[in-house]
Amino acid sequence: MSDDKPFSLVLPEDVADIGKWVHEFADEVIRPAAHEWDEREEFPWPIVQQAAQIGLYDWEFIRDGFSDPTGLTLPVALEEMFWGDAGIGLAIFGSSLAAAGIAANGTWDQTLEWVPQCYGDANDVKLGAFCVSEAEAGSDVSSLRTLAVYDEAKDEWVLNGTKAWITNGGIANVHVVVATVDPELKGRGQASFIVPPCTKGLSQGTKYKKHGIRASHTAEVVLDNVRVPGHCLLGGKEKLDAKLARARESGHSGEKQPAMATFEATRPTVGAMAVGIARAAYEESLQYAKERKAFGKPIIENQAIAFMLADMLTEIDAARLLVHRAAWMGVNGGYKNAEGSMSKLKAGRTAVWVTERAMQIHAGYGYTRDFPVERMHRDAKIYDIFEGTEQIQQLVIARAISGLRIS
Ligand SMILES: Cc1cc2nc3c(=O)[nH]c(=O)nc-3n(C[C@H](O)[C@H](O)[C@H](O)COP(=O)(O)OP(=O)(O)OC[C@H]3O[C@@H](n4cnc5c(N)ncnc54)[C@H](O)[C@@H]3O)c2cc1C
Repeated sequence: MSDDKPFSLVLPEDVADIGKWVHEFADEVIRPAAHEWDEREEFPWPIVQQAAQIGLYDWEFIRDGFSDPTGLTLPVALEEMFWGDAGIGLAIFGSSLAAAGIAANGTWDQTLEWVPQCYGDANDVKLGAFCVSEAEAGSDVSSLRTLAVYDEAKDEWVLNGTKAWITNGGIANVHVVVATVDPELKGRGQASFIVPPCTKGLSQGTKYKKHGIRASHTAEVVLDNVRVPGHCLLGGKEKLDAKLARARESGHSGEKQPAMATFEATRPTVGAMAVGIARAAYEESLQYAKERKAFGKPIIENQAIAFMLADMLTEIDAARLLVHRAAWMGVNGGYKNAEGSMSKLKAGRTAVWVTERAMQIHAGYGYTRDFPVERMHRDAKIYDIFEGTEQIQQLVIARAISGLRIS
């Protein structure tokens, strides 16, 4: 370890301040609204607007977060936001997946043009959606069927297909769509496109009724002869042509699939959301265990309950350490053994396990919608599923440590 960079787990002051600022908003605005929007199963526009008014729902906040040299701003902010509520948290953060997709695959000019349009401003909030998954292609991103065909005469791309389970799908102003331009090349023949606001042919399909994160909008996105100008191809035509030529020649493009590049960058931030849910459930349980009496004494005085709480906090802290390590590594030299996937795997499992234990501690009350741990338990499960399932994270880690194409 070098003398000029001593090992420290103390958060930089500016990062800690952002954490406090987000916590305040989560405590005063998000948490009190959580039950209502979960029950309504609707996008919480007024809350997102309030977040925009204080600069929390804001492309510059996200830009500064992604460019923070410690990598810790977004994990710290997201833990607090999702501590408030995961459904509303995802309503606030959902556009950032589209922003990350644009930044990862687009040129600088495209990023500057389209990322702000995913947010709008405090008086006119806009949304972004990142559309990869399809009914027959979730984990298997290389099997996308949505097709993009180039119309050279008009310098336009024509998109056809249906996307499944899209956060903000159909209600977003900017949709970032990953499509195949050469199906024979599978994942190597894909590209990302911007579908600008009000483009003809893009519509919302079925809106899903979900188990958890119900304030976040999830729907199909139907693309029926959607025409977008040539400049909406992220990265530009020259770069795509060169990539396709390399893939055809060597069977390898030398570049990551567009969707994969986005997911890699966002995994620790997704892990941080899961840590926030777990911490919220733990804190509710600690409080409850001190207040609830059975057999004449607070239930926390039983080792069985106190040990559960001890294990819950230990798991949460372990998950947070992996998330912070991965976030730091992501911007300081990159990953060695898929540490981004490790952090998301651990945090997702921790959130599911901790929220289940929280229900156990609350018992009968915890099984009802009158107590927030029931909602937190439903919300937590998505963290084993989206942005790469539990098994896909294991696959990524297994391939990284073995150097083999484990399947
Ligand atoms: C609420 C919600 C929001 C979402 N938001 C978005 C979004 O904004 N944009 C977007 O593009 N997508 C989004 N998704 C889609 C999500 O990313 C996919 O659901 C996820 O990638 C899993 O795909 P799948 O559901 O098709 O599962 P499948 O791929 O069919 O997997 C089914 C099971 O098989 C396992 N499995 C699959 N392949 C392997 C393998 N090779 N080895 C071992 N096990 C395997 C999986 O782990 C899983 O247990 C969202 C989903 C939900 C539910």
